[in-house]
Amino acid sequence: MASIRRTLSPAFRDRPYVNGVGSPFSVQSPSPKLLSSSRYSPPFPSAILAFTVTIRRFVAGALFHRPNRKGQQWRRVFYRCLLFFFLGILLGLLPFGHVDDDDEIRGRSFNFDIKPSHVNVQFDNDNTDRVVKRREDLVVDVSLGVVESRGELVPRKQLIIVTPTYNRALQAYFLNRLGQLLRLVPPPLLWIVVENKAASFETAEILRKSSVMYRHLVCGNNSTSAKDRGVYQRNTALEHIERHTLDGIVYFADDDNIYSLDLFDRLRDISRFGTWPVAMLAQSKNKAILEGPVCNGSQVIGWHTNEKSKRLRRFHVDMSGFAFNSTILWDPKRWHRPTYVPIRQLDTVKEGFQETTFIEQIVEDERQMEGMPAGCSKVMNWHLHLQAHSLVYPKGWQLQKNLDIVLPIK
Ligand code: UDP
Ligand code: MN
Repeated sequence: MASIRRTLSPAFRDRPYVNGVGSPFSVQSPSPKLLSSSRYSPPFPSAILAFTVTIRRFVAGALFHRPNRKGQQWRRVFYRCLLFFFLGILLGLLPFGHVDDDDEIRGRSFNFDIKPSHVNVQFDNDNTDRVVKRREDLVVDVSLGVVESRGELVPRKQLIIVTPTYNRALQAYFLNRLGQLLRLVPPPLLWIVVENKAASFETAEILRKSSVMYRHLVCGNNSTSAKDRGVYQRNTALEHIERHTLDGIVYFADDDNIYSLDLFDRLRDISRFGTWPVAMLAQSKNKAILEGPVCNGSQVIGWHTNEKSKRLRRFHVDMSGFAFNSTILWDPKRWHRPTYVPIRQLDTVKEGFQETTFIEQIVEDERQMEGMPAGCSKVMNWHLHLQAHSLVYPKGWQLQKNLDIVLPIK
């Protein structure tokens, strides 16, 4: 402001600002409100009065003094610097972020005193405790998205959940069920939902109401081959993650599988590539099988598999039995990948080989894998086949005909 005034011609000096409310900088002498002590006689002792007057002169000198001579200009600049220096110190001393013991304040959700995270604690024997503690976590998560680790606040890793989906009778049930689960996972979590050909109104509505952070993508490829189920859609999500360099743990969660909340907690422990056993309902044999790693601690030492036809696979993992660090997709140097070739699911391989051929692009061998949870002896998700091809799919979930009959109240 002062520099503007200095460039004005003398004729403008004593006039008020045209586009303002009359700036305090245009007054000749310091404001009487600030400086005049003759208007009233405060009942202070003379020492305090003298001190007050000194402060007032100082403030007036720093802010309002008009520059007449060069020496005065320099003094004014000096006073100003000094004033702002002291103001800075005062602001620094203010107790921002501090919460008193006051009960009313303690009850509010913006409490900065973060309780230790309970994410990795085993509560298997005490479910009630777990529920209560998870609630506490959520309060902290919603406001900050951080966890406490050895007394330090560290941002919680983002989860990037990729779900291919399509319109069919059970889609609303599947997507709502998954959405309801994901909203219980502490943030940050991004749900990338991919459809074929076009984004449907039904899917958009479910996502909008889910309260989960999501991106609704569309895949251009319209292959209807049974073996390509979800492959192109997952690739659309991978391209998106790569293009926008999204940072987090990528997990392929089909809409129809069953997931435990515990699984999503554990995904955040993954550094490069995590894998675990999945319980599957084998369609053809009408029995449950287990597919995934056999572990010694977190070291992968073998694989569970039941199907002879798939013995040639290098890794025996289901699509919902692994997750990996997204930076592998777009930061090859960090992971010492020799060449930059986009990592994608392959549409050229036999059914059942999609997982292994994909994983082979991410890791060289089992040494680069993290088996989880330690010992890999816990099932955290189930791959079922609950297709209901004979069920009708009402477009837009409008059941117009059924609503034609209106029964009067008797
Ligand atoms: N999917 C899709 N379009 C299709 C077929 C499947 O988006 O034409 C999705 C489906 O919603 C699911 C995933 O791809 O999320 C895997 O499909 P499905 O459950 O049929 O395969 P399976 O479990 O038998 O491997
Ligand atoms: Mn399925």
